[in-house]
Amino acid sequence: MIEIPKANEDRSNYPCWKGVSTMDGRSLKPLLYCKCGQVFGLGNHSIDIEGNISPSVWHRDNNGCGFHEYLKLDGYTGKSH
Ligand SMILES: [Zn+2]
Repeated sequence: MIEIPKANEDRSNYPCWKGVSTMDGRSLKPLLYCKCGQVFGLGNHSIDIEGNISPSVWHRDNNGCGFHEYLKLDGYTGKSH
């Protein structure tokens, strides 16, 4: 399992995550930036209050990335900010 940080302003610290909220301030599931820089939604994953994502995140793509880890979102509070 690896802990990943919140995204930098320029989102260059992959892998990282970014909080998302609606216009009226509701928190949505965060976005995940893979090691390769591609962005994912986490719609098929659950995230507990400590930021642990289950099941594991696996980037099954043709770009040869193959990133596959159990992830914890460092600094996650269940809110986007
Ligand atoms: Zn990837």
